[in-house]
Order: sequence, then structure tokens, then C-alpha cells
Amino acid sequence: MEKLIRKHLLRIQPYKPIVPLEVLAEQVGVPVEKLIKLDGNENPYGSPPQVKQALAEYNFYHIYPDPFHQELRRKLEEYTGIPAEHIALGNGSDELIMLLLFLFLDPGDKVVNCPPSFIVYDTFARICGGRVIEVPRNSNYEVDVEAIKSAIDDRTKIIFLAWPNNPTGNASPSAEDILNLTEYGPLVVVDEAYYEFSGLTVAPYVLQHSNLCVLRTFSKWAGLAGLRVGYGIFPEWLARLIYQTKVPYNVNVAAQVAAKAVLENLPPVRERVGLILQERERLKTLLKQQGILDPLPSQANFLLCRVLRGEAARLRDELARKGIFIRHFDAPGLQDKLRVTVGKPEHTAALLQALDEVTQRS
Ligand code: PMP
Repeated sequence: MEKLIRKHLLRIQPYKPIVPLEVLAEQVGVPVEKLIKLDGNENPYGSPPQVKQALAEYNFYHIYPDPFHQELRRKLEEYTGIPAEHIALGNGSDELIMLLLFLFLDPGDKVVNCPPSFIVYDTFARICGGRVIEVPRNSNYEVDVEAIKSAIDDRTKIIFLAWPNNPTGNASPSAEDILNLTEYGPLVVVDEAYYEFSGLTVAPYVLQHSNLCVLRTFSKWAGLAGLRVGYGIFPEWLARLIYQTKVPYNVNVAAQVAAKAVLENLPPVRERVGLILQERERLKTLLKQQGILDPLPSQANFLLCRVLRGEAARLRDELARKGIFIRHFDAPGLQDKLRVTVGKPEHTAALLQALDEVTQRS
């Protein structure tokens, strides 16, 4: 039967998602509650009790969700200041990335990616039959805007910019440069998955450009990674097209209830974002003092660190054996680095102690 499959799909390097908690627990023989998961940029505090209460009290899980997410879009209009007609929701922002590629790419069309960056742009572009044009970041992980401009031709459909970037944590290029890129034709997708940590956005400019969009998610700041809900701010024509082409019930009822409850209970959610930002600075200082991992500047809820003592992948494995999970990427510019998601203060303490232990032995 394989010969019936579209050929290019047989050659795809699959996206390696993070390993689920229960599987990790079994692999290392540590109970789930004791695992310290600093590899997925998730929110260690989860969502506040008000959100859990809204989920518990909701009575209509036997009814299909609203395919147009109308209430949630109205709440997002209040939250973002952008009219609801410009907003579309996805099963995580991952789904919106896939949908954009599905809408724009004919086989062989080009997508500009600036590695190292969020690997999903690359994988999904290839799945959708696109060609990925890589415009690598410099040694400080800054985007080469002029190189992007020269890479654009009439087959270039989309430019992806994670802003701040995952896994590097910096926000490059400047907002001015991003807006300037919209002059060159392709759709410019600014992925603001970490917006609530960075405070940086180009969302208001979407209203003035027909080829600029912004992606956001409830996975990181709002603690809803497991429920899968993301949204985009699009030119109105594109939001409309998304609602005409997406899977009807893409955002499930629980995700919609939880996301609404987040937007109705912003102070406790923002308090948790504040705790993470505070912990990021503390973790950064402590890591620098310890001298094993050297954290780079970050505008997100994680720190990319240069490994000063030991070898990065081995360090990751040794920490995993102690039930502490951090991320290593086997990709150019990242081989000697580790990405650490900011956790709670007790996670910081456990990480520092484990780092001391594993490097003393080597
Ligand atoms: N964009 C970036 C830059 C991310 O880091 C992530 C999560 N790793 C996503 C998008 C996907 O988020 P979601 O959970 O909403 O699919």
C-alpha cells in the first residue's frame, strides 16, 4: 500500500515531541509526582483553582463545542484589544501553523525559517509539500533580515519568526524589521507563544497589514498545555478562510471552558507569570554562580544555557536518571547547549544540586 501514499511523506523526519510524564516515570523508576519536568516550557503552577472549578462545574460536555468559538473570541477581543473577526482558534497554536501551511503552499512552494528555531515550522512545511529555505541566525541567534529579503522569490509564501524564539529565548529581529518584512510579499507569521513573559507584541499592526499575523497559545503562561488551545490574530480575510477550512470541532469543550475561565480570572494567572519571571532571574543568577551552565539572556519562560563543564547530551541523560528533565537539541548551533524551563524555586534547588552531583562524578 505504501506506493499509494504521497511520496514526499515517506521521507519526512518526524517531529520528536516531549515524552509524557507517565512514560518518563516508568523509564527512570521515579513516581510521577517526584519528576521535575523542565523540558517542555510548561507552567509548573498549572492554572489557578478558578479554572479547575469552571471545568468541574460545566454541565454540557455531551454537546459538541462551538466550531466558531464565538464567546472565546469575544473574550480574546477584550484581552488583546483586537476585534474578534481577526481572531481564530486552534487545537494549540501547532494546529494554526499546520493550517497556514495547508492554506498557502502548493507543492514546491517555499517557506523561510531562521534556525535554530521551533522545529515544527520545518517539519510541518515539509509535510505540506513545501521547500524550507533556511536563513540561519548569527552566533548571537539574531535573525539576518537582509538575508531573508534576498531569499524571497515568487515561490516564497510564508516567513516564520518565533518572537521570542524557542529554544534561544531572544526576540530578534526588531519590531521595526518585522514590519519592514511585510513589504516584501509573503505572509509574515510572528509566533508570540511566549508573549506574556516578554511583553513584546506586533499584534496591533495586524490591523494595518494584509500579510501579517500573530500566533499565541494558552499552553505556557496560562498553564493549559494539556488542553490544547492556541489562537491567532489574522487579517480578517484570513481568519474567515481559517473558519471555512478547519476541522469543525478543533477546540474541544473543556479547552474552551478553561480558556474562557483564564480570561475571566486574569489576576491569579498573571501572578503565576510573575512568579515564573522572578524565578527566571533567580535561576539565572544561581546558574551563573555555580558555573556549570551559562544561561543566555531570555525573554521567555526558559533559559538556553551553554554547557561549561561536561558534555551537553550526557548531562541531560544523567539529570534524567535523577528524575530531572531538561532539553538538548542535536542541531547546528545547539549541540553544546541545554534548554531549561523555569520551574518553581524547589525545582531550581533540585536542579542545582543534581548538576553539582553529576559534574563532580565526571
Ligand atoms: N510556537 C512556539 C515558539 C512554541 O515554543 C510552542 C510550544 N513548544 C508552540 C508554538 C506550540 O504551542 P501549542 O502548545 O499552542 O501548540
